[in-house]
Amino acid sequence: MAATITGVGVGLGLSCSSKLTNRFSSSAGSSRCSVKMSVSVEEQRKNFTLKKSEEAFNVAKELMPGGVNSPVRAFKSVGGQPIVFDSVKGSHMWDIDGNEYIDYVGSWGPAIIGHADDQVLAALGETMKKGTSFGAPCLLENVLAEMVISAVPSIEMVRFVNSGTEACMGVLRLARAFTGRERIIKFEGCYHGHADPFLVKAGSGVATLGLPDSPGVPKGATYETLTAPFNDVSALENLFENNKGEIAAIILEPVVGNSGFIAPKPDFLNAIRRITKENGALLIFDEVMTGFRLAYGGAQEYFGVTPDLTTLGKIIGGGLPVGAYGGRRDIMEMVAPAGPMYQAGTLSGNPLAMTAGIHTLKRLKEPGTYEYLNKITGELTQGIIDAGKKAGHAICGGYISGMFGFFFTEGPVYNFEDAKKSETTKFARFYRGMLEEGVYFAPSQFEAGFTSLAHSSDDIQHTITAAEKVLRQI
Ligand code: PMP
Repeated sequence: MAATITGVGVGLGLSCSSKLTNRFSSSAGSSRCSVKMSVSVEEQRKNFTLKKSEEAFNVAKELMPGGVNSPVRAFKSVGGQPIVFDSVKGSHMWDIDGNEYIDYVGSWGPAIIGHADDQVLAALGETMKKGTSFGAPCLLENVLAEMVISAVPSIEMVRFVNSGTEACMGVLRLARAFTGRERIIKFEGCYHGHADPFLVKAGSGVATLGLPDSPGVPKGATYETLTAPFNDVSALENLFENNKGEIAAIILEPVVGNSGFIAPKPDFLNAIRRITKENGALLIFDEVMTGFRLAYGGAQEYFGVTPDLTTLGKIIGGGLPVGAYGGRRDIMEMVAPAGPMYQAGTLSGNPLAMTAGIHTLKRLKEPGTYEYLNKITGELTQGIIDAGKKAGHAICGGYISGMFGFFFTEGPVYNFEDAKKSETTKFARFYRGMLEEGVYFAPSQFEAGFTSLAHSSDDIQHTITAAEKVLRQI
């Protein structure tokens, strides 16, 4: 079950070398690593400058809105400017000023076997020789589809798309088409991509009709979106009571990663499964983040609760743009051209994305991978929380396999309202301090962190030692 740590942790007896050499030597090998082996953390800190990043970002701001191509990359909530990167390998990243970081963002999830994995790169090279896009069926689609179907309990048929957003858009249309109903329930603080019907800010009430969260989203697009707090079964029951026969589906992140890390209460997912069945509504797990991350079969395997439909993304594209939705055969057969529900994509099932996905899943399927992720992520989360407590901070957090998070509040955190109690200005100070120590977390308190098979014990120990130091200072 979900490991939720509230702070009273075991002492891990860490003794960490301050030399980057150590963490490099046990990271995924790369020529890049050997170039930098003699740089110590102290040296890096002394020389820490983001001058080139700042210059590049100032140019970018003139060229692209906010200087980025996705808002989560901006540093608005932690201060300063985004760092501009040059390369990634294993568990490490290098910015254009030459600073090196241990990375806990993992490209927002895909990099679960480590960045730029040698086997994935080699396979991509082979595929590329045959071309980059066919716009027609290719064998690689069958291979990845079979892998996904045999891994994920709910998926009997799958449709590949190009992003998590697209997967969620498709699955919503499908749920509405199949049930002939229009209302959906989403949870406050869950993100399902940027399509209009999902951009809803939950009101403070229990059963709030959705209001658009962004200008440009027509009221009509979110009118049928109902929201409830995560982990609140009675709020859900009220919504079903007040919208009898009208709710097509519940969609949720089975473990929330878009409000920080929030695990479901022990019986929450079972209760949702029961309520949807009783009301003829579909259950959709958005596993864009948790799929192949919590377990090979995703959150549904981990918790033993099988939804009707599932969305995937991130990991199944191994770092290339991909998404997918799938589920019960009788529902999926409604999708065009097998059925009348229209959804399409020029680059869907692209051979490069299929290749990266296939080789990423192959590596994940090897014995011991999720045990390893669980072990290092547990050490990391516990280490940070212990360090925070020792320095006198209110802090709590949790982890499952390669996904984790911590909040600067006493906790426990069961939903977005609880998460918002976190002291975000303290997180910002922590964030800046950790950057200087060579640790790259997501630049927001409200994002989960990710580890990978390429993270070594030295990476984890370095991070904990850095956290101990920074947490004493902030
Ligand atoms: N669903 C979830 C749970 C996500 O975490 C994300 C992205 N972080 C999406 C959907 C949207 O995916 P994408 O950014 O690939 O459109």
